[in-house]
Amino acid sequence: MPTRARPIRLLVRAALLAAGLLAPAAVGANPAVPDRAAVERPAADRPAAERPAVAIAAEISAAPEGGTRLTVVLSRPVEARAFVMERPDRAIVDLPEVNFQLPPEAGRKRDGLVASYRYGLFAPGRSRIVIDLAQTATVARVATSTRPRDGATLLTIDLARSDREVFRRAAQAPEPARPAGPPAREGVDSRPLVIVDAGHGGIDPGAIAGTGVYEKDIVFGVAQRLVQRLEAGGRIRVQMTRDRDVFVPLAERVRIARDARADLFVSIHADSISAAPQVRGATIYTGSEKATDAESARLADRENKADAAAGADQGDGPGDVADILQELTLRETRGFSARFAKGLLTRLSGVMEMSVKPHREAGFRVLRSPDVPSVLVELGYLSSKRDLDLLLSDEWRATVTGQMAEAIEAFFAARLPPAIARGTEAPRIGKAAQIGPAPVSP
Ligand code: ZN
Repeated sequence: MPTRARPIRLLVRAALLAAGLLAPAAVGANPAVPDRAAVERPAADRPAAERPAVAIAAEISAAPEGGTRLTVVLSRPVEARAFVMERPDRAIVDLPEVNFQLPPEAGRKRDGLVASYRYGLFAPGRSRIVIDLAQTATVARVATSTRPRDGATLLTIDLARSDREVFRRAAQAPEPARPAGPPAREGVDSRPLVIVDAGHGGIDPGAIAGTGVYEKDIVFGVAQRLVQRLEAGGRIRVQMTRDRDVFVPLAERVRIARDARADLFVSIHADSISAAPQVRGATIYTGSEKATDAESARLADRENKADAAAGADQGDGPGDVADILQELTLRETRGFSARFAKGLLTRLSGVMEMSVKPHREAGFRVLRSPDVPSVLVELGYLSSKRDLDLLLSDEWRATVTGQMAEAIEAFFAARLPPAIARGTEAPRIGKAAQIGPAPVSP
């Protein structure tokens, strides 16, 4: 159990709250929202001062002394902060929430020191531009000015060439405050708690289909369906790691599950292999230090890069086995994960195409909770036309999420002695409490 670390996290959280850096509602405990459009609160509903600035254009030009300038045209002034990160080399511009209305080709062309750039919502109330650097460069200047002809705000970020040594020192400068998740909810509800984790989000699109559809949107749609189905069933409590199109770091997803003392964590993804459009089918993954095969290892590696894609840290995060108790817990938890994966596989294979080896293991970072049974489902391949059509089909989503929900309900039903099943006591599945006394908080 992560009990020992909790008081420190609470302190950090309180400090962030006090500094206004923490948005309290990053993750919805009540994700009963029909779709993305409805989740994004219409800007018109908010008072003008709360409405996000709109980015209407962006342009790259030459800056003094061989540098490169990125200019973003905004509807009103914003506070911006920029810094650089190494491996991959990139410059990050942190902004308050910005409504990006840039043309689709924005950021895709290499120009000067800019290899490409991405932008989007990074956390509730916070947006980010991630500039992939064509060579090492530092941020020489961030400034806003007013364009005389129409009063628009021009945000300019000047990048200056630097050698590796200077860049590394800049990258090692103190880190800016990171967004944190919401406080965990302690309910009196004794039903098992399942965390539904829609992969990617915000600035990190995940895999991209040839048609331009993003993995983050597909998996979010499926995750919502699953949540609705579980809530309708009434036997399971559900929480999502993200309830809209927002970036959530991988370690944060794990922490949400552990802080909430979840009984099961289900991560939903979709894969893509553009070189092999004939490859189809779903695969269920459980965590392991040793991957089943090279293909699984490569996939886990790719999914584990989600943080880097959004310009976030790639620390090891929670889940590293620290002591004997944790190791025992982890071993037991993995047994539960495998058992759930088996039940899920049985149900899914009846209604959908499964891959050649449908249950595999690999070192996914989101599957590292020592005390929460966790699986990751790759629903299919965006690179397969047939898979993609199904992934977007309402009927298919209903059938598949229906089977997933049944597998989840069956998993808990099988584990509960009758007294608990009647709801007299919270079920404890895969918890440290089963193999020894819980550690005491200091
Ligand atoms: Zn993914």
